[in-house]
Amino acid sequence: MVLFIRPAPREDCVELRLKAYRQNTASLFRHISAWIQRRFFFVCVLAHELGHALVARAHGLTVRDITLFIFGGVASIEEESKRPGVELQIALAGPAVSMLLAAFA
Ligand SMILES: [Zn+2]
Repeated sequence: MVLFIRPAPREDCVELRLKAYRQNTASLFRHISAWIQRRFFFVCVLAHELGHALVARAHGLTVRDITLFIFGGVASIEEESKRPGVELQIALAGPAVSMLLAAFA
């Protein structure tokens, strides 16, 4: 019995290499995209908290620091305003910044 093993046609090799290249490129693109999205998420959270902090400072309140967590952040304002309108402005400033960012995204 004679067994003939036929080599794969050259086109198949090229197609396999092209497929592997596309998969590697897609994987690299996904990693880079995820890396950029993680940074952009933290920039958006920081901008949100800066919105709260800047309005608080504009009304003479002391902002101790801004802490970023995995899923959000906190602007530490030392004392509350005596005027409820100012508190409302501070509370709405962060979401307003987020809405602005969303409008540009
Ligand atoms: Zn907020």
